[in-house]
Amino acid sequence: MGIIEKMRLDGKKIFVTGGARGIGKSVATAFAEAGADIAIVDLDMEEATKTAQELEKNNGIKSIAIKADVTNPADVDAMIETILKAFGRLDVAFCNAGICMNVPAEEMTYEQWKKVIDINLTGVFLTAQAAGKVMLKQGGGSIINTASMSGHIVNVPQPQSSYNASKAGVIQLTKSLAVEWATRNVRVNCISPGYIGTELTLNSPNLQPLIEQWNEMAPLHRMGRPEELQSICVYLAGDTSSFTTGADFVIDGAFTCI
Ligand code: NAD
Repeated sequence: MGIIEKMRLDGKKIFVTGGARGIGKSVATAFAEAGADIAIVDLDMEEATKTAQELEKNNGIKSIAIKADVTNPADVDAMIETILKAFGRLDVAFCNAGICMNVPAEEMTYEQWKKVIDINLTGVFLTAQAAGKVMLKQGGGSIINTASMSGHIVNVPQPQSSYNASKAGVIQLTKSLAVEWATRNVRVNCISPGYIGTELTLNSPNLQPLIEQWNEMAPLHRMGRPEELQSICVYLAGDTSSFTTGADFVIDGAFTCI
């Protein structure tokens, strides 16, 4: 079997949080194209359902939509129950749901701080933990978390201390889980994307005016596209990445090199 065939995900059972749109939807599409069955997990059930239907129609795989708030442990438990009922097992988790908030640190309320940390860091912990429990019992699995280049550098000019701190937390959480579960065949890695054109960046009234400035700073003079994160995630989800755990893949068009 050639390397491309070995990288396929036929029959694997995967959940994608924040899968209704943006990076989550794009990566879920790649997983489906590679043959996996997908649970699209999101707060937005209408969009999640549309995405799941699209994946089924275009790829002949099974896809379900699940409404869950990744910050709510009861929702996360119910999500796992639904997935096991529908698919019987769980091979890959893409813990990707996240938000961004740009508020000067001296003006930030406790609630604003907590919301970003809850979704971006605690949400990744809760979903990765729930996935890990199933995978440890099964004897293996692959968890992919979405961090950000903001876990490595401080973006300017937008003030986003809570976002940057949450994403640095995701990178260290990824490494911690990878080491804890290494000998039990559960691999944990993360991706750290640079600026990617999605709803989060293109349609946010806070961020949209900054795009020209970011593009000027960026070595490639453009933002990334969600599909430019697909192949790394397919690699991490599949069996050819068996020696890859605890790694953080910075995919930012060299933004963090400057
Ligand atoms: P997006 O806003 O387009 O999509 C995020 C999805 O997550 C939405 O469908 C939303 O409904 C869902 N979501 C939000 N809160 C949730 C919750 N509590 N529970 C369940 N679902 C929830 O964003 P995106 O640009 O696709 O970003 C996806 C991930 O990538 C985020 O973690 C983000 O921080 C990270 N990221 C984005 C960029 C970028 O430039 N777009 C760069 C680096 C990292």
